[in-house]
Amino acid sequence: MFLMLLGAPGAGKGTQGKRLVEQLGLPHLSTGDLLRQAVIDRTEVGQQAARYMDTGGLVPDEVILRLVSERLKKPDCSEGCLFDGFPRTLVQAQALDELLQRLGTPLDAVIELRVHEEEVVRRLASRGRRDDKPEIIRQRLKTFYESTQPLLDYYRRQGRLRTIDAEGTEQDIFARILAELPEQRDR
Ligand code: AMP
Repeated sequence: MFLMLLGAPGAGKGTQGKRLVEQLGLPHLSTGDLLRQAVIDRTEVGQQAARYMDTGGLVPDEVILRLVSERLKKPDCSEGCLFDGFPRTLVQAQALDELLQRLGTPLDAVIELRVHEEEVVRRLASRGRRDDKPEIIRQRLKTFYESTQPLLDYYRRQGRLRTIDAEGTEQDIFARILAELPEQRDR
């Protein structure tokens, strides 16, 4: 099963993503995690990506698409994975559609985690990651509203989007997500 989590920074994609992959036994394909590891490992991708990440902008599509297509080729992804933080632009979304079409495995569901902006800012401010400083948070939110929000319409038009109210306890939010998954719903 190929699943995707969409939502603003701080909407809980990382937290809920971890729970979901444990529950479903899927690999967690987080481009943010892959990029942070590349920065630590000082790979070429890491060196290219760091300056965008440090300013709250987006890493160029071609860098991201290379990273994702390499990861998808690994055998553990043959039955599916959870995309987290990817795609973030329409170019990435269209490229992913083509990739999955070639693999003959369409996207099963796109889960939007929806949180009010004040709550997002509050969560990010308490997280303490290197790019969670107030001016970078503002830029990351701006990037989200400009580049990533149009993806919601893209997937809504495809009939794949499921919007979840992502405020409340971690357990409640997780239960709402499970209730929206194709298999879980049919049980
Ligand atoms: P995240 O952990 O998903 O919040 O990602 C952290 C940072 O990595 C973002 O602020 C971007 O600079 C970069 N990044 C992660 N995923 C992508 C993506 N799909 N496209 C472009 N940049 C990304």
